[in-house]
Amino acid sequence: MAKRLPAQAYIEGVISGDRSILSRAITLVESKLPRDRKLAEEVLKGCQGSAGKSFRLGITGVPGVGKSTFIDAFGTYLTSMGKRLAVLAVDPSSGITKGSILGDKTRMESLARDPLAFIRPSPASGSLGGVTRATREAILLCEAAGFDYIIVETVGVGQSEIAVHSMVDFFLLLMLAGAGDELQGIKKGIMEMADGIAINKADGENELKARAAKIEYENALHLFQGSKSGWQAQVLTCSALTKAGIPEIAEMTGSYARKMGESGWLAQKRKRQAKTWMHETIGHSLLERFMKDEAVKLALEEIENLVEAGKIPPTVGAANLIDIYLRHVSTEQ
Ligand code: GDP
Repeated sequence: MAKRLPAQAYIEGVISGDRSILSRAITLVESKLPRDRKLAEEVLKGCQGSAGKSFRLGITGVPGVGKSTFIDAFGTYLTSMGKRLAVLAVDPSSGITKGSILGDKTRMESLARDPLAFIRPSPASGSLGGVTRATREAILLCEAAGFDYIIVETVGVGQSEIAVHSMVDFFLLLMLAGAGDELQGIKKGIMEMADGIAINKADGENELKARAAKIEYENALHLFQGSKSGWQAQVLTCSALTKAGIPEIAEMTGSYARKMGESGWLAQKRKRQAKTWMHETIGHSLLERFMKDEAVKLALEEIENLVEAGKIPPTVGAANLIDIYLRHVSTEQ
């Protein structure tokens, strides 16, 4: 790993928009070494005051729906308007498959060459909790670096959408026409989370099907009406390939930002997200300390065996272990 810098050098580099320092700061927040964590927290604290001005857009959809092609087209449209954007990814599977499948530079060829764009692949960590933490912190750093848009890409299979939904302003779901909901692996819950749906690959023979799907999804979305925000999720069609419909999607996110900004909803949403972030961090760090505790490590296997054998209920096993942990921590102080 590259040599660490003093906290102030990271902070100043990030805030001045220095790409290479930003990359190094993201590497720092991705690190799990306790020494790096302390430095990372100092850097994050120093950047906090300059963050909060970017529009955060989450993008999800099953593999093959066209996420990277879409982000390439959408991102290039934004940079052509002079906007600066960062692309991050949440891909908890990448730790297992060794090497990120998302946010890869080669998958976004135009953006990768675009001086107004910054692309960062998913942190290569196996656990969703770890990837989520690192991505939230990377968002904060990118905001401090002054990007207008931050796109967080995730793959539409499993828990990662919920994590990304909890860190963005607008959640965009990419779908295909005529693939059937089942085939697309899209659960109702994910549609419910969406602030907008884009039916991609609406080109050639697919165009008519895409228009029919638009009506179908609009009807489905009406079932979820009554969002407290007052925002009605919209369904649009687009082609990431021909770029048709891309400006309309940018307009939709812009309209959301304006309306939800004016009503105060966006600020409220961010406050809630910050609180959730803190609560989740408490959960993760307590669990991490608990699992590393020597007294817990000594007793864990025996209590696990008792629980597995049905000799004590799981709740009692958990309570015993927590007692062991608390007793050990209090004697250490
Ligand atoms: P991802 O796995 O969701 O990131 O999907 P990709 O962006 O890698 O796209 C999967 C395939 O669909 C590629 O072969 C793309 O060229 C193709 N593709 C993406 N968007 C479109 C589109 O709008 N129209 C058509 N016809 N093909 C597309």
